[in-house]
Formats: sequence, structure tokens, C-alpha cells
Amino acid sequence: MSERRATRACRVGDVTVGGGAPVVVQSMTNTDTADAAATAAQVARLAEAGSEIVRITVNNRAAAARVAEIRDRLRDEHGVAVPLVGDFHYNGHTLLAEFPDAAEALDKYRINPGNVGRGARHDANFASIVQAAIDHGKPVRIGVNAGSLDPELLDGLMEANARAAAPVSAQDVLREALVRSALTSAEAAEELGLPGDAIIVSCKVSRLPDMVAVYRALADRCDHPLHLGLTEAGMGTKGIVATTAALSILLEAGIGDTIRASLTPEPGADRAQEVRVCLDVLQALGLRSFRPDVTACPGCGRTTSTFFQELAQRIEGHLEARMAVWKRERPGVADLKVAVMGCIVNGPGESRAADIGISLPGTGESPRAPVYIDGEKATTLEGAGLADEFIALVERYVEDRFPAATRA
Ligand code: SF4
Repeated sequence: MSERRATRACRVGDVTVGGGAPVVVQSMTNTDTADAAATAAQVARLAEAGSEIVRITVNNRAAAARVAEIRDRLRDEHGVAVPLVGDFHYNGHTLLAEFPDAAEALDKYRINPGNVGRGARHDANFASIVQAAIDHGKPVRIGVNAGSLDPELLDGLMEANARAAAPVSAQDVLREALVRSALTSAEAAEELGLPGDAIIVSCKVSRLPDMVAVYRALADRCDHPLHLGLTEAGMGTKGIVATTAALSILLEAGIGDTIRASLTPEPGADRAQEVRVCLDVLQALGLRSFRPDVTACPGCGRTTSTFFQELAQRIEGHLEARMAVWKRERPGVADLKVAVMGCIVNGPGESRAADIGISLPGTGESPRAPVYIDGEKATTLEGAGLADEFIALVERYVEDRFPAATRA
């Protein structure tokens, strides 16, 4: 893992992005913002899943009119104080001016420089949004997206490239246009008076190689915190894999201060999946710990029953359910490592390497399961109550190793 890139620190509500702070997990709602109750409920659900900042669409007057209510509902009905970001396109300049309570209730504004108007109107509209941020003391994200890149900027760079003695590929010009759009907009915002530490930058694209190249260039050419995301990553396994690969390459290189997984949910699926993907990416990279790790082998011909899969699933479920309480009461428990292994081949080794691990008997092995605690064989379980007994041992281990925090 490379050293984290040094950046300015940007405060978004109570959350710090950049400046060496832990990488922050973000998400975005897909409710109609004008439906304040539904939006507040989804924001709360995303925050409970682990999202530390949540973005909501503010696309029209009906939506802007309900932003402050969403903030109030989160506090009063859900007991949630997660920072809220307003996502503005085309009309942010008018909505922020017309709805000062929304401008005040939001903790950050997202500006897409490709969607604030053309020509002279672009500069005036952009300046209006920046002025709203200055007036309300809010940070902004300059959020460029390949799908809505300023066509005047791209055309100008394409023409200049065509005249160049050694033209580069159209793809390289597109990448440069994305970076240039973000950086010139960030510079313009600073010239208008927005403090440099109130600016986060992103350039979202939908192809992994473009994303990596663009963010490497941003990292080299500015010191603003970077918001990472592979936009329109897609559905299911494909979306998760593409997102994970893209985020991992950059985070491993020390690039990225806040992340979002732009997954397309299956109809009716839980929106919080995009949050869980971000948590798992950061935990797998060793950047943050959110919940205990369960090491489970994939199983093979040596495990002809599904018992060990069921036990691994029960352990995962038990730990996840208990984390709601443990994370408040037992500091450090997210670092717990549990192993559930299927047979003697790798079972004892992985179980010893975990804080607490069980090596189940494979086909033809003696029906006994040694349990290892802190690298030592502690006991052997067998019989119908094995799963419950192992869970009880995990509970006891957590009690001993992670004492309940004393309240002041
Ligand atoms: S630990 Fe045993 S059961 Fe699990 S994958 Fe390895 S050989 Fe197969």
C-alpha cells in the first residue's frame, strides 16, 4: 500500500474528507426528494448501513422546498445526523438562491461544471453557486462526469490536438478535458473567494482504465481531496467487480479520500448494497475496519456436507447483528478475526491465524472440531450443539478481549 497522497482537509458537516482522515464512505438516494418522508427514511437506512455522507438529488423547486424538512426528519424521526449533499445540475444557481433554507440545511453542494449553462451563462451560473457556498459557509464538490463534459472545452481541445505536431489519441484528449474541466473549475471557485479547503474534486467515468488515468492526473496536479467513483458501474456482480477493481487500484496507490459505489440496484433491492461494497473494499484493503472479518474456505470435495457453509453463514449473521450493539459498547471489536474452515488441510492453520477459529471435520475425518483461540488450541467441539457452542465461545472472546466502554 502506497502512502496516502497529501491533500487539504475539507469539512463536510462533522466529517473530515482528506488531510489524512480515514477514507469516507458516501452514497446517494434514489427516492424523489420531493417525498421528504421517503427520502429521509432512505438516507437514514444508508447512514445506518455505514454511509458517512449521503447525497440527495435537488433537481427542481419541489425537491429544494423539502430539503430542510428532510434534515429535520432525519434528526427528529430517525436520530440521524449524517451530512447531506445536494446534487445540482442545470438549475442549482436558481434553486440555491430561491431556497436559502435548503442551501443552509445542506452540508455540501455538488456542482457539475458541464451542466451549469453555456458561454457567459456558464460563468455567471457557476459564480452564483459558488457565492451561495461562500454565503452559507459550505464546501462544494466539483464533480465532472464524462457523460456531461462541457462540449466547448472538449471541442477546443480536440481542435488543438488536430493541429498539434504530434497529436495524441482522442481518448487521451477526453481524459485531459475531464481533468482540465475539474481543475479550472476548482481554480475559478477559489478566485471567486471559496476557500481552497472547501473544495473536493471528482472526475467520474464509466471505464476503469480512464478512471485510473484521470485520477492519477488529478492527484499529480492538485491538492484537493478526491472523491472516487466509477460512474454507471452497472448491475450485480459486474458492477461490484468493476467498482472494486477501480477503487482498489487507486486506493492502493494512496489516491482517494472519499468513495462511492455507483451500482444499479436490482428492482426492489436494498439501496444500501452500494454502502456495503464501499465498506468491504476499504476493509479488504486494510484501510478501515467496520466489522469483524470471517475467514471461510470455499469448500471442496473434502466437504461433502453444507454444514461448514451454514456455520460460516450463521457466524457472519451473528456478528453482523451483534455489531449494532458492539460498535457502541465494545471499542475495537471491528478488528476481530474469526475463521470457519472446512477440513484439516488448511483449517488448523487459518484458525490459529485468526483470533478465534474452528476447523470443522471434512469427509472421512473424525467428527470433532478443534477451536483455536489466540493461536492456541483451546477446546474441541462435537455433536449437534457445535454451532451454538462455537457462537458462545465467540461471544465470550469478545467480552474478554473488547471490554465494554465505560461511560463518563
Ligand atoms: S480447508 Fe479443506 S475443505 Fe476448505 S477448501 Fe481447503 S481443502 Fe477444501
